[in-house]
Amino acid sequence: MKQVVPFTDLRAMTDEVRASIEQGWDQLLDTSGFIGGQVVQDFERSWADYCGVAHAVGVANGTDALQLVLSGLGIGPGDEVVVPTNTFVATAEAVVLVGARPRFADVSPHTLLLTPATLEAAITRRTRAVIVVHLYGQMPDMDALCRVANRAGAVLIEDAAQAHGAAWQGRPAGSFGRAGCFSFYPSKNLGAFGDAGAVVTQDADLAENIRSLRDHGRVRGSHYQHDMVGTNSRLDALQAVVLTAKLGHLAEWAEARRSVAQRYRAALASGPGRMVEELPGGRGVYHLAVVRVPDRPRVQHRLTSMGVQTGIHYPIPCHRLAPYRRFVDGPLPHAEAAAGEILSLPMFPHMSDDQVDRVCEALHAALATEAVGIA
Ligand SMILES: *Cc1c(COP(=O)(O)O)cnc(C)c1O
Repeated sequence: MKQVVPFTDLRAMTDEVRASIEQGWDQLLDTSGFIGGQVVQDFERSWADYCGVAHAVGVANGTDALQLVLSGLGIGPGDEVVVPTNTFVATAEAVVLVGARPRFADVSPHTLLLTPATLEAAITRRTRAVIVVHLYGQMPDMDALCRVANRAGAVLIEDAAQAHGAAWQGRPAGSFGRAGCFSFYPSKNLGAFGDAGAVVTQDADLAENIRSLRDHGRVRGSHYQHDMVGTNSRLDALQAVVLTAKLGHLAEWAEARRSVAQRYRAALASGPGRMVEELPGGRGVYHLAVVRVPDRPRVQHRLTSMGVQTGIHYPIPCHRLAPYRRFVDGPLPHAEAAAGEILSLPMFPHMSDDQVDRVCEALHAALATEAVGIA
């Protein structure tokens, strides 16, 4: 009888674009144009426009997007790159993969994002770059962060893998830094039917560099000349068809996510399970709806038993993961405290008011049993 509220619903999005994807795929199957070609170029043009920048380069996934930007900027051994510790591991992983050293920064206890102060505290003489992460689809104070990075002579890179179409003071995610990195992993706000990613930038040279790096360091217009050691990180034409079809719905889906978040925020305002804050200058796209709760294991278990699926993003801050512990140089108290309390509630564009209300009722009930110590 009791209907489960799923954590997400990719199928509802697929259904909206199915016909146009089938048509696009049919054409590719007829022409066998599986790598590169017009579909990929057209998507790159549309994605650059959507992000308000001059160039977009499609790549194989979001991790490669980060790694290719770092390589493309010549960042490597001997360099340090500041990253918030509250992020998906790929942000720090990309830094290590190019041979540089990640320096973990703490986050705001209110937004769980980088702040000018936590960034400043992590900067050293060796800092070449900072990767600002728009985690959960929320943007931090980009004006202030750009100032701090500029003052330190560090390049600012945006990890916008969770923030397609988010904005700070009306300006889109990906357009602030030297480059913005996107993932189109299926569950991201703009998701492919497999792995995919993109780099966006205003810098024509960097774009050209990454175009070459993603394709074995090929010289443009030549098949056999390679003037760099690159890699194979191209965006499939099949995925470009999917992304093009879904891009037409992205703004509307983001709006739907925002209204789900608003409903959550209103219903949960009285606490104790309050939503993580959104800054007044930002326009978040709510990749995730994150609350903080006491005794999370028990609350999560109660929610599961009431048919509400949840997730945790992320239970272990990066600097506490085994391969990254050697880069730690001090406590990061806000991120550590948050990691034990955060809980991601169901969030997807097609979520009904009734589903949101059921999640809120279940959360209130779970927290109430929590308060009196029974479960
Ligand atoms: C998903 C994600 C990535 C990595 O993207 P992939 O496409 O999975 O490689 C990087 N950073 C953040 C914040 C992400 O959420």
